[in-house]
Amino acid sequence: ATLVRDTTTDAERWQNAFLDIPTAEETRRHLQYYTSIAHSAGDYETAVYTHERFLEYGFNSTILEEEVLLSYPIQRRVTLLHPVFYEAKLKEASYSQDDTMHHPDVMDTFNGETPYDDSNLTLTGYSPSGNVTAEVVYVNYGSRADFDLLLASGVELTGKIALARYGGLFRGTKAMIAQESGMIGLLIYSDPIDDGGNTFPDGPYRPTTGVQRGSVQFLSICPGDPRRQVCQPDDENYTYEKGIPSIPVQPISFEDALPILQNLGNHTIPRNMWQGAANNTHVGPGPAVVNLFLDVKFNVTTIWNVVGTIPGTNPTETVLLGNHRDAWVFGAVDPNSGSSALLATARAFGVLYRKGWRPKRNIVFASWDGEEYGLLGSTAYAERKDRNNDEVVAYINMDTAVSGTTLDAAASPSLEKVFRKVLEKVKDPNTGTLLSTLFQSKKIRTLGSGSDYTSLLDHFGVPSLDFSFDGHYGVYHSVYDDFYWMSHYGDPTFEYHRAAAQIFGLVAMEIAESDTAALDFVRYSERLEEYYVETLNYVKAINSSIDMNELKDVIEDFKEAAEDYDKDIQKNSQKSELYARATKLERAFIGEIGLPGRPYYRHVIQAPGLYEGYGSSPFPGLMQTSGQRNWKMFDRQYRLLVERIEAATLVLEGK
Ligand code: GLU
Ligand code: ZN
Ligand code: ZN
Repeated sequence: ATLVRDTTTDAERWQNAFLDIPTAEETRRHLQYYTSIAHSAGDYETAVYTHERFLEYGFNSTILEEEVLLSYPIQRRVTLLHPVFYEAKLKEASYSQDDTMHHPDVMDTFNGETPYDDSNLTLTGYSPSGNVTAEVVYVNYGSRADFDLLLASGVELTGKIALARYGGLFRGTKAMIAQESGMIGLLIYSDPIDDGGNTFPDGPYRPTTGVQRGSVQFLSICPGDPRRQVCQPDDENYTYEKGIPSIPVQPISFEDALPILQNLGNHTIPRNMWQGAANNTHVGPGPAVVNLFLDVKFNVTTIWNVVGTIPGTNPTETVLLGNHRDAWVFGAVDPNSGSSALLATARAFGVLYRKGWRPKRNIVFASWDGEEYGLLGSTAYAERKDRNNDEVVAYINMDTAVSGTTLDAAASPSLEKVFRKVLEKVKDPNTGTLLSTLFQSKKIRTLGSGSDYTSLLDHFGVPSLDFSFDGHYGVYHSVYDDFYWMSHYGDPTFEYHRAAAQIFGLVAMEIAESDTAALDFVRYSERLEEYYVETLNYVKAINSSIDMNELKDVIEDFKEAAEDYDKDIQKNSQKSELYARATKLERAFIGEIGLPGRPYYRHVIQAPGLYEGYGSSPFPGLMQTSGQRNWKMFDRQYRLLVERIEAATLVLEGK
């Protein structure tokens, strides 16, 4: 007798088998391991652990070394000199309840060098050395709009030290704007008013001694190792110093910011919303005078990406799944909730493989290193000479996978549909309701930056997806983001880690198996229409004489082509030529020239906002050049956008 196999049912059967495999318990165990040591960029032990798990699960696994520039603080000092004296502590308090914080091995020696006295030390990645003394100006969040308001109010910025609070834009972008405004140093503090609630260890929020570490590279100009010439190919005198701030930057706690905030006079705050938990009423300059002294060492260091592969029956196409492994300290949420879920997904795939599951496309798991300093590992990997990113049909990212229970996602428009589809199979652990129901009315955001999809999407044109379960994550980039926090506040049962592993795996299985890689272009065309309206309004408000009708027309053509393509796919179930178009589409949006001043960003549909970093800008060529009122450049970017959308339409039409 012959056994007739229905492939759809088969794929579904494998998916159902998959869902039962990941356990909450294994994610707890992995997290306990990862958080048992401080492991910032370059940590080898966690790389080996991850590699050994991949091997144990039956994967081909390699540890790939990359040489990158990192920075380490040797000495740091923030001193309020006038009108009162205060020496900032620059150290986070430890709490006796929390045993994660009391490991004897919190000393982090970075391969024999000992720049840290212990991991409570707070730092910025890529701040330069500096020794500056000046009056302080409070700049609110330090956004472009905040600085514009200060300038409009006649506040002197040149030669002063900025005090900004965290929030809104990427911290390195705050540094970029402060520097552009002529300021000579930057302090960034965490304001409890933006946090709100019981503080750790009694609650999930940041204690007043808590500090948010983090990179201050110019992420919205170029991600990755700042030494790379590809960041500014036309600048013969390019050095890494152009990719990072020229002014010293130090993050501080609310406790350390308070005496400074309380000693600001001169101009009153321009808006009530500028007031933080200190009830500060003035922005300065002065009378507070601060000395900021940083001695920072820059070192070329080895980082370790770990890459595990399950071969597909079609070896030239790959679904890439990634999470970074390096943390600032213990990294329970960021990033190791994602690392733990990733391992649970990987183990489950190993089990299926042994039972005979053979995915059509390769499935590759990447555990990135050096994300915190600037997406170093993922960028180096994407740029490896032996790689062809055209073979990557999609990239699925998990970073801070679990800090609570509210699902959030950002994605390339072509991946929105498959993400929503897999949610029909995963239950919300707390309520038992399907996640598709809970997520139904929620919007999937456009990807900006701040995690490892950036180079793959914005430079190479790989459709990407990023998702997380969010909660009251008040301890971001602090020593308190540890196992105690996770097991008390983030995900005590680890069931959301399990759910994250299930979503991660199901998305991969759908994309690996589907003829069209589960990519959906009708949704893409709807997004283009939204971006058009948003951009048109923005540009018209600056220059009402700009005509953008041709762009509207080519988007309509794209939409028609997407709808026709969709119909053809429904009709022709065996046309591989038709399917091949799907995986080429996103590449059509990569322009030969990138954005003005930041040529690494080549995707014409979205980029991190120049003055945001984290937040995304639609049609960035138009947004940026109109914002800069550079109409010659606007024209050039407009032509490029029209041309790329036309090219994408041709791909869909098979021409
Ligand atoms: N996730 C990191 C952060 O937000 C990214 C750093 C970077 O891209 O430079 O700090
Ligand atoms: Zn992260
Ligand atoms: Zn981080």
